Amino acid sequence: MPLKTPRNENFAKLTAGYLFPVINQKKKDYLAANPNASLISLGIGDTTHPLPAAVSDAMASYSKGLGSQEGYEGYDPKCESTLKEKIASVLYNGMIKPDEVFVSDGSKCDIGRLQLLFGTKATVAVQDPAYPVYVDSSVIMGRSGLNNPETKQYAGLTYMPCTPDNGFFPDISLAKDSDIIYFCNPNNPTGACATKPQLESLVNFAKEHGKVIIFDSAYSSFITDPACPKSIYEIEGAKEVAIETTSFSKLAGFTGVRLGWIVCPAELKFADGTPVKNDLGRIMSTLFNGASSVAQQGGIAALDNINQVMDIVKYYLENAKLVRETLDSCGIKYYGGDNAPYIFAHFPGRDSWDAFEEILTKCQVVTTPGFGFGPAGQGFVRISAFGQRENVVEACKRLANHFKK
Ligand code: PLP
Repeated sequence: MPLKTPRNENFAKLTAGYLFPVINQKKKDYLAANPNASLISLGIGDTTHPLPAAVSDAMASYSKGLGSQEGYEGYDPKCESTLKEKIASVLYNGMIKPDEVFVSDGSKCDIGRLQLLFGTKATVAVQDPAYPVYVDSSVIMGRSGLNNPETKQYAGLTYMPCTPDNGFFPDISLAKDSDIIYFCNPNNPTGACATKPQLESLVNFAKEHGKVIIFDSAYSSFITDPACPKSIYEIEGAKEVAIETTSFSKLAGFTGVRLGWIVCPAELKFADGTPVKNDLGRIMSTLFNGASSVAQQGGIAALDNINQVMDIVKYYLENAKLVRETLDSCGIKYYGGDNAPYIFAHFPGRDSWDAFEEILTKCQVVTTPGFGFGPAGQGFVRISAFGQRENVVEACKRLANHFKK
């Protein structure tokens, strides 16, 4: 007997499945048909390098303590305030205050929770292409109409194309009718990283028109170019318009451990004067009971050993360099891979899924079709630099064998 309880009708608007389960299915289908294939995945952006011993030891030792009366803690572990202080000092150099930091179980969950801050009528602008969660969570919240099968865009959402023609920095004025601007920097999937003047133009636009920016800096640790800010709060006035969501996932290999944070500055206020931070505090205390204390111990150890953590980021950036050199040798134009772990390879005039299939079947390398991140990703595939060196070297060899003329 089906339920009489009504479904959230917005789920019916979502197209296909979430991108990565679809890719996983294609991978499984290929392996079922080719059981001897040795696939290398440079598809999903998942970290592969072991944690520094200082980080895993800190989690192990705290976990062991939980088995004793003296070491046991329940809700509200003592470490949360230490972690907030370390985030504010080590990662923001004091630019933000510890009480503006909301510790969480990761940025994806936070992007979902942040949706609850704004009225259902609030409208949204996204970079196109972009991390799919901004669009999908907006659709689930009822901020969109139906998906147009021709344009593959949802009615009611504003897409700001990021292409080689605009250096992957969108025309922000397209967001003139949107209340919320999602901005992912460095960008997943394009690997583009905005300069200070570009981010100033974003902040100035938001200030002038009273819009909020949800700034996703999940990949900020990969920024090597000193001209590119790592946080939106490096831009004057950003505290009045921007919330930053970010994570230990790519910074410290915590994709499985789960730890992230939101920065919501005290200066950010709704039209009626209510500090946004108050409502966010309410969401976090009503719908979330805090990040795992074990994960938080790992986060503290990661920040105490930031040089070791950054050595792993550098390792992935060296992988990215190998991929870039391979694409250069094949004459394939690409973007990114210098301030981000993603390389956006261009196959002009091709369908992204087609290029994805060619790389899968001819090189046995899994990538991600750019189109899966939005219509402007058509003709691109995203290659991830997360992987063990020997796998990346082998994948590069296969790509060169197939594509080198
Ligand atoms: N934001 C971006 C741009 C991402 O690419 C990802 C994960 O790939 C996330 C957020 C989610 O990170 P987390 O593991 O903290 O949920």
